[in-house]
Amino acid sequence: MRVTYGVPLAPMTTLGIGGPAAAFVDLYDPADFPSFVEFAGTFPDTPVCLGTGSNVLVSDFGCSSAVVRMSTTGVRMAEETADGRTLIEVQAGHSLVDLVDMTIDEGLSGMEMLAGIPGTAGATPVQNVGAYGQEISDTLVEVTAWDWALGRSVTLDAAACGLGHRTSVFKGARRWTVLKLVFALRRSPLSTPVTHRAVAAELDVPVGSRVPLAEAARSVLVVRKGKGMVLGCCDTDRRSVGSVFLSPEVSPAQAERLRAQNAPVSDFPDGSTRVSASWLIRQAGFELSTPIVHGVRVSSLHYTLVADAGASAAGFTRAIDIVLEETLLRTGVRLIPEIDYLGEWKPGSGGR
Ligand SMILES: Cc1cc2nc3c(=O)[nH]c(=O)nc-3n(C[C@H](O)[C@H](O)[C@H](O)COP(=O)(O)OP(=O)(O)OC[C@H]3O[C@@H](n4cnc5c(N)ncnc54)[C@H](O)[C@@H]3O)c2cc1C
Repeated sequence: MRVTYGVPLAPMTTLGIGGPAAAFVDLYDPADFPSFVEFAGTFPDTPVCLGTGSNVLVSDFGCSSAVVRMSTTGVRMAEETADGRTLIEVQAGHSLVDLVDMTIDEGLSGMEMLAGIPGTAGATPVQNVGAYGQEISDTLVEVTAWDWALGRSVTLDAAACGLGHRTSVFKGARRWTVLKLVFALRRSPLSTPVTHRAVAAELDVPVGSRVPLAEAARSVLVVRKGKGMVLGCCDTDRRSVGSVFLSPEVSPAQAERLRAQNAPVSDFPDGSTRVSASWLIRQAGFELSTPIVHGVRVSSLHYTLVADAGASAAGFTRAIDIVLEETLLRTGVRLIPEIDYLGEWKPGSGGR
């Protein structure tokens, strides 16, 4: 295990923002984790965990605790369950894109709609990663994690992970470092039913159809690229965390009022009714590519925030606040940031 000190974290995040880590460990070998635990014990605070940095805003002041980047890779096909699903054990640092590709190649159905989502497998339960009708809660069986409060490794079944709409017990907690996960997928050449209208339109099939796995993934990628939601797919919006805000939950009265305005209001598997964050931002008067603060603007393809030259963490949080306040004023609905704030946030420097 190699420790480096004062390493800039900005290049390890997709926004390219953030100060240095007091101490940084890139963990490639699961067998090195006990050494990291021992090392992290020399710091007063729980370590910060990083995957590929595609959903984080790191403070300009960086992190005064140890930072571990989970770079452990590997997938092991395990046994079949009694109900005919195939179990797959995945190391935390394994790329989600590679995992989805592998499941498609293996003829396993259940993750194909997650094609193109950046990040590591270990980060997927943190916000119950999902898109286009599938989310990690559909296939997650269990998570093995280091519990920094108990000082030992624990196994949490999916129910114990508290997976909800872009949330879980892990979100914002810093108590656990996910080490490996088990997913269960069904052997089938066909996708789960296509529920997203844009994906169905791209496939030219009715909503509810099941299509070959690779076709489903290809169509999802086309739709995602159209919104700049695949990393590196467009020249203008390279520094992105995808959606900065999650689609907020609305009351039945709000839902009725918003539906009357033709807002995209949908019912979610967790029982919540939500309105599209992009629609709210647009409705509040923010146009594509609009600069919000120095170095932060609305994406040129999608109603989310992206970074340009000169961006800082303080500026990004200011931009979040501006969009949030204006949207609340204009639509009556409060947006909720989806990104995770990492590091030291001094008063007045932003963060949550
Ligand atoms: C272009 C783009 C499109 C996106 N589209 C989607 C989408 O469609 N749906 C969606 O849900 N998300 C989407 N995202 C957000 C992001 O891809 C996911 O949140 C992803 O799971 C983050 O993975 P990561 O490895 O980069 O995690 P990081 O950004 O490094 O970390 C995210 C959070 O997870 C924690 N974490 C990371 N690894 C571990 C671990 N091993 N153990 C414990 N905690 C850990 C971190 O501390 C942090 O709090 C998108 C992002 C981008 C840039």
